[in-house]
Amino acid sequence: MAFNVAIDGPAGAGKSTIAKRAAKELSYIYVDTGAMYRAMALYFLRKGISPKDEEAVSAACDEITVTLSTENGDQQVFLNGENVNAFIRTEEVGKATSIVSAYAKVRQKLTQLQRELAASADLIMDGRDIGTCVLPEAQVKIYLTASVETRGKRRFLELQEKGEICELEQICEDIRKRDEQDMNREISPLKQAKDAVLVDSSNMTIEEVVNRILELVEQKRS
Ligand code: C5P
Repeated sequence: MAFNVAIDGPAGAGKSTIAKRAAKELSYIYVDTGAMYRAMALYFLRKGISPKDEEAVSAACDEITVTLSTENGDQQVFLNGENVNAFIRTEEVGKATSIVSAYAKVRQKLTQLQRELAASADLIMDGRDIGTCVLPEAQVKIYLTASVETRGKRRFLELQEKGEICELEQICEDIRKRDEQDMNREISPLKQAKDAVLVDSSNMTIEEVVNRILELVEQKRS
């Protein structure tokens, strides 16, 4: 049976950085489910379908195929065969993703694909509902969080590095809004699974968090 590690938590908690490193250490596949939702949102935006129009979004779901591959340890996401990694990290796509990921049709499609992946290989999967809904039987579950201020500062520095003009207060506000949407939606809201280990990364280095995850995996495997 494949060994599955589920990491859930709010935007900016460091899930992808941590999951990617831990997966490398363990030689597991890393699956970033947020990127899959982002690819779908990109499709709707490109087609001029309003993210708020659930009916139109749901109807267009059948036109979409999302696939993944790994290149040099980095996940690549394909939208109907096109590698869209370069287009899915904008604020516009992020906001649209948070809206369309609340719809049943969008979630059904990706949940099925995520379960197929998890059954076929040892992996670390990160997202919002992996431990609670997608992989309730995952051998290790982690709920990774950090304060809004810490997450905002991290995002601020990331954007500054890219040369983008931004304001810390606005970023914190966007994070609060995204949390609110992800935690309060009806289907698969972001929440800690009962059997997940809570890790607050506010005052931890990346290395400390990765080591904590490796420890938890080691405990379960031995
Ligand atoms: O993790 P990331 O910020 O890339 O995710 C973008 C958005 O995708 C989240 O704000 C959330 O609305 C949605 N998402 C989700 N379920 C997942 C992963 C992401 O609803 N498993």
